[in-house]
Amino acid sequence: MKNFSIWKDGSFSINSCNLDSDIECDVLIIGGGLTGISTLYHMKDSKLNCILVEQNKIGMGVSANSTGKLTYLQDSMYNKIWKKYDKITASKYLESQRDAINLVKNIIKDNDLECDLTKSKSYVYTDSDKEIDSLVELKDFLIDNNIDVKDDALDLVENKYVISVDDTYLFNPVKFIYELVFKCNLDNYIYEGVSIVKIDRDEEYYLCYTNLDRVIKCRYVVIASHYPYFNLPFLFPIKGSLEKSYLCSGHKDIENISLISYNKPFVSIRNYRDYIIYLSNSCINSSHGNDKERFDELLGSAKYLKFTPSYSWSNIDIMTNDSLPYIGLIKENMFISTGYNTWGMTNGIFGGYIVSELLLGRSNKYSDLFDPKREISGNVLESVKNSYYSVEGIVNGFFKKNDSIEYKNINGDSVCIYRDSEGEHIVYRKCPHMGCYLMFNEVEKTWDCPCHGSRFDIDGKCISGPANKDISYKSDN
Ligand SMILES: Cc1cc2nc3c(=O)[nH]c(=O)nc-3n(C[C@H](O)[C@H](O)[C@H](O)COP(=O)(O)OP(=O)(O)OC[C@H]3O[C@@H](n4cnc5c(N)ncnc54)[C@H](O)[C@@H]3O)c2cc1C
Repeated sequence: MKNFSIWKDGSFSINSCNLDSDIECDVLIIGGGLTGISTLYHMKDSKLNCILVEQNKIGMGVSANSTGKLTYLQDSMYNKIWKKYDKITASKYLESQRDAINLVKNIIKDNDLECDLTKSKSYVYTDSDKEIDSLVELKDFLIDNNIDVKDDALDLVENKYVISVDDTYLFNPVKFIYELVFKCNLDNYIYEGVSIVKIDRDEEYYLCYTNLDRVIKCRYVVIASHYPYFNLPFLFPIKGSLEKSYLCSGHKDIENISLISYNKPFVSIRNYRDYIIYLSNSCINSSHGNDKERFDELLGSAKYLKFTPSYSWSNIDIMTNDSLPYIGLIKENMFISTGYNTWGMTNGIFGGYIVSELLLGRSNKYSDLFDPKREISGNVLESVKNSYYSVEGIVNGFFKKNDSIEYKNINGDSVCIYRDSEGEHIVYRKCPHMGCYLMFNEVEKTWDCPCHGSRFDIDGKCISGPANKDISYKSDN
């Protein structure tokens, strides 16, 4: 079994630029996932001089661990939005997702990208009698919005009621990113292995300090780093929670299909060529406990689909307090695009486009809807809940120790030691982001933060933010 995402199986590299001196630019984009690459793409022909920094390799973060569905049929998202606001707001979100799909199709067509884009039917189903009325309500909402939605049937999973639409798509997100970079020569503007560790304001400029002791001076900053490493000005830890999901994939010949369960327990299935990708067992990141047990449950529950998994991996996304993304200005000349509620193929690529429009001084019809500074009703309650999750993460990280790890104190430093055939792997036990205790993910061999979702490889290299520093133990420190 390969314990990484099916999209990462292959060799991916670009001719990234070298940051060998301090530099200046108009716009600095932080993060090379779908959001950052889309922003760079949309800015490339503008008068503003843009660069993108990525702390690892581009396209290997959350985007590479997704299921790669481009769909507006998104489980109970619309119901959540109209409950929080109203149906007009939910309709506007629906319109944005359809616009986003068209945008992605046009980018692929205009640049002749080979990223396995295929049209597919999308299904939403429920296996619970209690949810049927609510799913019917979703169907009626879609009909009111002129969507050609049908009652349908599904053999693949047990269900009580199913609806489907025809005009949605599947693609390979990693191929999309790399093809776009190659075909548009975006690598001339990309610096890999460069992490932003601090941002200061100097009159009308931002001074962005990097892990390489170089400074990037710019007028505008775009935070496309998924979960931002800083807390102020946006107070991110109370603006959203984190959902962790477990996925596996193996050979199985099925039709072109994209299906999703309407509510919890959450299931998502799609095909990719002659593979099936199966997602299940999602949970709040701070309360997942033991990853090995959750992977075992995933593989157990996959049995009814009759395939032998050859890949398994996990992924974490940000759920916002009102189920709408945060896209726009967070402070003077600083933009953010994140919080996609597990729908970042559409929202991430569209977010990059919206931010580029705002950078160029153009208005966008969705900028109010996605405004990160919008008033969210019930926000106080949600914020308290999110703070509770952080505390739960601290407690679980401290108490839920892993049997295969030796926990030790060396010269006052709390460290974790994992031993395998290659020898000892020693890392600091606390996450450099906010000091939460890390948990060992025995399946993927990563150290994961139960509070804010940072991830580190077996030797402590940071592979996912908000942390922006490694945790490899250095004995001479
Ligand atoms: C299990 C799962 C399945 C999903 N499936 C789907 C799907 O089918 N369809 C869909 O629409 N959405 C899906 N999503 C959601 C989607 O994957 C994400 O919302 C989206 O990929 C986020 O993109 P991003 O560019 O914001 O983040 P990322 O892809 O994580 O990119 C952020 C980048 O920023 C870099 N970075 C971080 N900090 C710094 C720093 N300080 N300096 C420099 N670089 C930094 C990181 O290394 C990373 O490469 C899924 C999510 C999950 C959890």
